Amino acid sequence: MKICSECQIEKPDDAFNPDERAYDGRHHCCRACENPDVEPPSADEKHCRSCATTKPRDAFRADARYADGLSCYCRACDNRKSREWARVNRERGAATRKAWLARNPDYYAKWRATADPKLNHKR
Ligand SMILES: [Zn+2]
Ligand SMILES: [Zn+2]
Repeated sequence: MKICSECQIEKPDDAFNPDERAYDGRHHCCRACENPDVEPPSADEKHCRSCATTKPRDAFRADARYADGLSCYCRACDNRKSREWARVNRERGAATRKAWLARNPDYYAKWRATADPKLNHKR
């Protein structure tokens, strides 16, 4: 990690261009500050990658993994995505459990029969 001399934001080393003259081999300011055209660091708006809409920066959740410290998806898309993700995961989880139980129908009965109550007391 290195702190950019322009935007004062701490960013991962690879957010800085290599610079042989620099003491740490990295340019003193980050790529975003070096090439403001590519990613304007002071812009108060950001383009959402998901809904392709330009929104004010506070419509984006802070996310340190991104160069400008904001998620590349707006909050609306972010919420939608995490809801979808949770739903897909839940469905997948339930289906996996169901399939497993179908293959092992007597698992719980067996487990109860073989479980030694003394073992449980020891702990
Ligand atoms: Zn910078
Ligand atoms: Zn969006």
